[in-house]
Amino acid sequence: MNWSYEDNFKHKGLRKRLIIELQQKGIQSKSVLEAINKVPRHFFLDAAFLEHAYEDKAFPIGNGQTISQPYTVAFQSQLLELKPGDKVLEIGTGSGYQCCVLIELGADVFTIETVAPLHEKAKFYLQNLGYKAHFYLGDGTLGLPNIAPFDKIIVTAGAPIVPESLVNQLKVGGILVIPVGDQKLQKMLRIIKTSATEFKQEILGDFAFVPLKGKQGW
Ligand code: SAH
Repeated sequence: MNWSYEDNFKHKGLRKRLIIELQQKGIQSKSVLEAINKVPRHFFLDAAFLEHAYEDKAFPIGNGQTISQPYTVAFQSQLLELKPGDKVLEIGTGSGYQCCVLIELGADVFTIETVAPLHEKAKFYLQNLGYKAHFYLGDGTLGLPNIAPFDKIIVTAGAPIVPESLVNQLKVGGILVIPVGDQKLQKMLRIIKTSATEFKQEILGDFAFVPLKGKQGW
């Protein structure tokens, strides 16, 4: 993050335009659009990509990883149907941008990253931006058994299967949003835990995430 960045009228104008674009692409949740309108995405990109911060595109954030496309962040956030105070597990902290959007939606976020420098950087950035989350370094496919159960779980990397530990760490009535497929293309799944042993699954469109690594990943 470049601390000489400011959030000026130009950035705010570009964010408004991005919000209109997301609406045109089908994002309807007012609270999600408002949250995206609040988070200064340009703070999360290297200076070289500053001009592109409010285009609806994914960008490299170092260590071979990417900050998700705003449409994808909005789509996943909308599927979570967040309520203020929801206890949320995020797998794949990355830049921390999605985490900030969840915080703006009122969530209490527990976020796991497997790449140490990304974990450190996101922790530092979010603290400095005034966003409070709980940061963990490790394999997110195992979830956080000591902190479970969660109201909502969001996976922001492409999984080969739905990790069983994540399903087990959902509350009854809880929602898991996870892209599942091969390493190039995944289907977005929304899994709702309807009772201690029953689930409802929806399949919601194609996405391209970086691979989810780990014990129950690639
Ligand atoms: N939510 C992020 C996007 C992250 S890209 C953002 O808003 O910027 C996906 C991230 O998942 C990468 O940083 C990658 O290192 C991480 N990841 C991959 N496998 C993981 C695992 N098993 N546990 C935790 N993080 C993982």
